[in-house]
This record gives sequence, structure tokens and C-alpha cells, in this order.
Amino acid sequence: MDLVNTKNEYSFDPTPKLKSNPIPLTFVSFNRVDDKCFYCGEEYFYNINYGQSYCKKCLSRYISETTDIKSYLDVYIENLKYDKYELRFRQIPYNAYFYEVDSCKLCGKLFCKCTKEFILCSDCYRISFEWIESTLTKKLIPIIYLPWWNNHDKCRVCSSKLKFTSDCQKYCKYCHIFYTGCRYCLTTNVIFGLTDQSQCKKCRRVTSIDITNISSGNSDLDDFLFNTTS
Ligand SMILES: [Zn+2]
Ligand SMILES: [Zn+2]
Ligand SMILES: [Zn+2]
Ligand SMILES: [Zn+2]
Repeated sequence: MDLVNTKNEYSFDPTPKLKSNPIPLTFVSFNRVDDKCFYCGEEYFYNINYGQSYCKKCLSRYISETTDIKSYLDVYIENLKYDKYELRFRQIPYNAYFYEVDSCKLCGKLFCKCTKEFILCSDCYRISFEWIESTLTKKLIPIIYLPWWNNHDKCRVCSSKLKFTSDCQKYCKYCHIFYTGCRYCLTTNVIFGLTDQSQCKKCRRVTSIDITNISSGNSDLDDFLFNTTS
């Protein structure tokens, strides 16, 4: 997958084959190890082979309110016996070891069937990055826009547990990496520094980042992070 610098590309679409959802998706957690739905309290259904959890109650509500879910979601519906079915979402990291991806369901491009990695079609899923000016410190900070729902519970850099501040925000207090998810597009912004807002590359919604209770646990570092605000 190529990394595109989108600083001056206002029409950039991270998932050109999909539409942004008209209503926020509540059936998935931003934390892959959650076992209960943050929204309705129902226990998540866990697809053991695919390694994905979702709330069946919130999902059925979404399906009943949405016509043509495949224009919004890259989803594979697997029919099981006795009129049962399971859904597999490409926009959410999955266990590819058990699931041999053979082609992109959005454009038909073929994949190698032997990979164990969570992979996405590089034509239909486009990663981008930018430097943005922090609204707090006025410094330039890098931001990576992932075209999928990054539901990891641990920091990829230092392996510490991420701190969840809402149903679509989390951060690593050691690395100061912040994650904001868009529930309309199932995309994730990875922000390498402190700022109090972030914009989804697809639907352009701006999310406020709650930084009121954020502390590095080190008062010198906190002074450095916060007192550069002017
Ligand atoms: Zn639910
Ligand atoms: Zn594709
Ligand atoms: Zn970290
Ligand atoms: Zn969005």
C-alpha cells in the first residue's frame, strides 16, 4: 500500500468504492477485546474463525434502517445452516490465517491466497498522511489516515495498553499517539502529538479530542506538552 501525502488534495477519498454511512455505526467497538456492546449492553457475538466481534442487536437495527448496506460497508455475508448467517467486515482487522482472501469484493482484484496478514486492496483502500498544525501547541504534527477501523487495544510502538476516552477515541500515554475513529466511515486517524480536533478524510466531520484528563504520568513531560500552548 502506498502512503499518499494529501496536504493539498481536498478531494482525496480513502475508500472510493464505498459511501459514508448516513447514520453512525454502533455495532463494533473501538476496543477489540471488549465483550459487551458500549451502546446497548448486549454481549458481542465473536466470530472465532474470523477474529471479529460485533453486536447482533445493533447490527440488525442498522440493517433494518439501511437499504443496500453493501454500498456503505465492505461486508461478506456468509450463510450458515438453518437460516443463520454471519457477517465478515473487511474494514475491521480480521484473522486472515483462517480466511483465505482470494479477491477484493469491491473491484475484483486478486490477492495472494497464502498471506496471514490482514490485507486490503490498495486501489479501494488508500492510506494517506499529512502534517497538521496542532491547535494546542501550534507545532506541526504528523497524522496518518487509515482507511479502516483500527480497533487495537495495544500501542503498536511500545505495546502498552491504550487508554480509551470514548467509543471512538484512545491514546497511548507513553508515546502520545492518539487515535480517533469515524463511525460513519469506519476510518481511523492516527495522530502523533497533542491536538484537540481531528477531521475524517472521507466525510470531513471534525471530532473534538477530549484531552482534559490526559496526563503522561510525568509532571515535567506534562508541562512540556501543555505549557507550549499560547
Ligand atoms: Zn449493541
Ligand atoms: Zn479493490
Ligand atoms: Zn505507545
Ligand atoms: Zn467519516
